[in-house]
Amino acid sequence: MMDYHRSRDRFDEDRIDEVLELIWMLREEGESHLDNVKKRSEDPNVSQVLTLAVSEGLISTDHGSISFRPEGEKRAENIIRRHRLAERLLSEVFEIEEKQLEDHACELEHTHVLSEVVVDSICTFLGHPPTCPHGKPIPRGECCRKFSNEMKPLVVPLTELSLGDEARIVFISSKYHARLDRLSSLGIVPGGTLRLHQKQPAYLIRIGETDLALDRELAKEIFVKKMLLS
Ligand SMILES: [Zn+2]
Ligand SMILES: [Zn+2]
Repeated sequence: MMDYHRSRDRFDEDRIDEVLELIWMLREEGESHLDNVKKRSEDPNVSQVLTLAVSEGLISTDHGSISFRPEGEKRAENIIRRHRLAERLLSEVFEIEEKQLEDHACELEHTHVLSEVVVDSICTFLGHPPTCPHGKPIPRGECCRKFSNEMKPLVVPLTELSLGDEARIVFISSKYHARLDRLSSLGIVPGGTLRLHQKQPAYLIRIGETDLALDRELAKEIFVKKMLLS
């Protein structure tokens, strides 16, 4: 009995999340009308979910227009942030194709596997990206606000290093397998360390005993973590 109620609540919460996310996206498009929400929602019982969201003080409606109450806005912001960061993570680190992206990001979002702390770690790891792979803004988190005054991103493209910097390769974001093969044959693989010697006219790096020249396009796809010099 308990379990039944719990899973039913979870189900309703998911449906509310879905609607809040939709209202947020419509607001970005300047379409904050009840009719648009009903038209675009995939929930067969969207009216019921909207009524629930109103009674929980998450949204309010007025003459056919819909707006967030503070609690609902905060909740929608978190959902959107989680979703768009998950998309970034999947596309940059795991190189998931754009068409598959939507499904995977939704799964991650609704299984609630990403706590706020984990979300902030992902955000920091990715260098606090301002947008998702579709160009939609990612709402800022606590980590981004801190970062703007005191922290540098942990992982940056090779092109962001200064001359003489030593760095560890974290991942390579190329979508082109031929390039990845070429890079790994040159010894550019995650975990390896390099030092940047020159930026113009090409990026000159030293890996072990080997000097390599890379063009800017290629250098931009190599993500590194700067090593602290003692
Ligand atoms: Zn997106
Ligand atoms: Zn951040």
